[in-house]
Amino acid sequence: MAQVDVDMLRVFTAELELCKVKAGESVAVLSAGTAKGEIAQTFMIAAQKLGAAVFHVNIPDLATANAAGVVGRSPLAGNRRAVEALKSANMVIDLLGMLFSAEQLELQAAGVRILLVVEPLHILKQMFPTVEHRRRVEAAEKLLKKARELRVTSAAGTDVRYRLQQYPVMTQYGYTDTPGRWDHWPSAFLFTNGNDGEVDGTVVLAPGDILCAFKRYVQEPVTLTIERGFITRIDGKGMDAALIRDYMESFRDPRAYAISHIGWGMHERATWYHMLATQRLQEERIMNALSFYGNVLFSTGPNTELGGTNDTACHLDIPLRNCNLFLDGEQILDTGKIAVPELRAAGWQ
Ligand code: FE
Repeated sequence: MAQVDVDMLRVFTAELELCKVKAGESVAVLSAGTAKGEIAQTFMIAAQKLGAAVFHVNIPDLATANAAGVVGRSPLAGNRRAVEALKSANMVIDLLGMLFSAEQLELQAAGVRILLVVEPLHILKQMFPTVEHRRRVEAAEKLLKKARELRVTSAAGTDVRYRLQQYPVMTQYGYTDTPGRWDHWPSAFLFTNGNDGEVDGTVVLAPGDILCAFKRYVQEPVTLTIERGFITRIDGKGMDAALIRDYMESFRDPRAYAISHIGWGMHERATWYHMLATQRLQEERIMNALSFYGNVLFSTGPNTELGGTNDTACHLDIPLRNCNLFLDGEQILDTGKIAVPELRAAGWQ
């Protein structure tokens, strides 16, 4: 076994301190295959240094476990003993991605807090969370929780309304010290879902918006017509519209066209241009794209994460730039900038 990377150990220990890992707790690391052995070992050493009892649940690697845009089919399904072992821990560090799965919901219901970690170390450091992220995201959560309508508009032609209150609000600020709560290191955004059948309007994807499933910036406008919570038309002459149409059709599932979560990004160190600037896109996920400051995170597909019944495997996350966002008429974002002073990062207008 290689020596533990001192820098990685320092960063992981700081993260687990934010998660308030302490003596008397038990921490489980969940991984698949051999690929993340060093990360798993380093997390275990960090947790043990903080006084926790530590163990590792490792299952065979399944290539389909977490392919881009295909979620909810957890490799833990059917592995009852692994689930029971994880349930016995206070905290699970998930290196494989249980996202949206029944197994994850079962762990949360048992009071286990879960931290998903799938980005490589350089992204974990670049977007390392702070208590200020939590404060700002939770201040935004208060506003979103009480809203009855969310509206997004843009100069590109977007004008869409979500009726709210059927679904909870979910926050992500990159760490978790709350029993039963899930988070993803790194991130800083929040979201909810429109009520079933109550999302209507038009979303115009503009050049520079991001199709996360393809790690691609939109080049030519795409107009999505939304009626009663579903996309009913995808118009656009360019390749982006063709890609979206082809991708969604490939699932052969009418529920793929449902509108999913809606919210906005608040991370001042995440960058919109990141996918073009990085030299290591292959090994990275998309947390810069989902989190960058002032994006409207529009998405399609499943809603099981927020307690809904649509478990389609077709999920598109599409961060939109330069949008206005209103909650019951109060402006929260103004052309991609945060308009509410208490939600702003220090030094941002
Ligand atoms: Fe999503």
